[in-house]
Amino acid sequence: NIETIKYSRILLKLSGEALMQSGEKSCIDPDFIDQICQEIKDIYENGCQIAVVVGGGNICRGATMSKIGIDRANADYMGMLATIINAIAIQGKLENYGVATRVQSAISMPPVAEPYIRRRAIRHMEKGRVVIFSGGTGNPFFTTDSAAILRAIETNCDIVLKGTQVDGVYSADPKIYSNALHYNNISYEKIIQNGLHFMDTAAVALAQENEMPIIVFNVHKQGSLKNALMHQGNMTFIGN
Ligand code: UDP
Repeated sequence: NIETIKYSRILLKLSGEALMQSGEKSCIDPDFIDQICQEIKDIYENGCQIAVVVGGGNICRGATMSKIGIDRANADYMGMLATIINAIAIQGKLENYGVATRVQSAISMPPVAEPYIRRRAIRHMEKGRVVIFSGGTGNPFFTTDSAAILRAIETNCDIVLKGTQVDGVYSADPKIYSNALHYNNISYEKIIQNGLHFMDTAAVALAQENEMPIIVFNVHKQGSLKNALMHQGNMTFIGN
């Protein structure tokens, strides 16, 4: 129901890891990509303008590649290229569901994706196209979490939704510590001070400086994207 979604333009951050099926050879889990694309379609049909930033950790991470002796900056470019692969997968699935999309890339790759052009991205969203931002920030030594916050600020999104494997921010990893405390609300300050690692510190600091709110939710729970947008169910709200 359109009245209950609080935001008119949102940015969804999907990690590469979320796309991966554990124990399988494929880097993309067909069931998960189906589920999340249906959920995106659902909020799209509610009139929400949507941007997506996708990670690349299911295919390649700079830090891992640098451990095998590849220069870190080059390794990070490998990671950025991985995000473009994921973006094209999400585009393909969304278009199967009849959702109009555009992929923009921070790394110029004309046959595959539009270059990142801020005003054009905004125009796409105004015209009802889901814009998938790929290539991260285009700079090594950054992450796609920073890209998500940056693009959300640049394109005047109301909020960033970060899909994770658990239903919000905890005082410690709830998969390891059963007594970890779940936060319904938490400040940027406290996240940085307590070193809570659901998102890198540079991204949290950028969000704080620009007062970009973030919702952290469990992307694997069906219906959780819409619930998060309606502030329903278990999730964490970060903001002032
Ligand atoms: N990356 C980068 N600059 C960016 C975004 C990403 O260098 O602005 C590289 C980095 O090596 C990272 C990889 O791309 O490890 C994949 O991105 P990320 O780890 O953020 O993906 P996720 O954890 O969301 O799957």
